[in-house]
Amino acid sequence: MTSKEQCAIEGCVHSAAASLDGEAYCREHFISMCYTRLDRYDEIRKGPGLSATNTDSVRRFVHECTRAADHMEHGAKDLDNLDRAKLLHIILSASELGRHLRRSPRKVATIPVRLSSERIGGAWEEDTETVLVSRYGALVRCKHVAKAGETLQVIRADTGEKADARVAWQRPLGNEDVRIGVEFVSCENFWGLDWGVVEEAR
Ligand SMILES: [Zn+2]
Repeated sequence: MTSKEQCAIEGCVHSAAASLDGEAYCREHFISMCYTRLDRYDEIRKGPGLSATNTDSVRRFVHECTRAADHMEHGAKDLDNLDRAKLLHIILSASELGRHLRRSPRKVATIPVRLSSERIGGAWEEDTETVLVSRYGALVRCKHVAKAGETLQVIRADTGEKADARVAWQRPLGNEDVRIGVEFVSCENFWGLDWGVVEEAR
């Protein structure tokens, strides 16, 4: 791609910075295209499941958008903090999407849990519930700010069982209802579900 190439969005006068699905976009439009796609896949994942999509094209998107966002994040000299944060968020969300493609089914399930963070200087606890669970983690409602990579303890309110989980991502939904994706560090079947049956029922 030459630096003289223009962004494919009609009316945009900026030069292309990255390409996605064969179209070249400026940084701003690349970011918004990535968000649109990630949001759409997120909806599909929570609804019919990613197996309802053309998984090859999702896989291609994950690869392409991660590579381009990473390249931009490292290479652009005029990147402000907000754009950098957006690009990092895209990389993280795409990697999460990639894991969902490879991994086990999700199940919509409301399981009461307590989240506990022992972050130095900012420890918190929250009684909340899951939105979705998988063999390896969960999507949980959470009003506290959790950083990707941070470790939380998840305690089931019903059984008292505890497990350490890593925050994979956080996506704000409006002002109040923030959701976080967590992945268990070592626990295999925290939810006690028969995943073979869940798989068949999909
Ligand atoms: Zn543009």
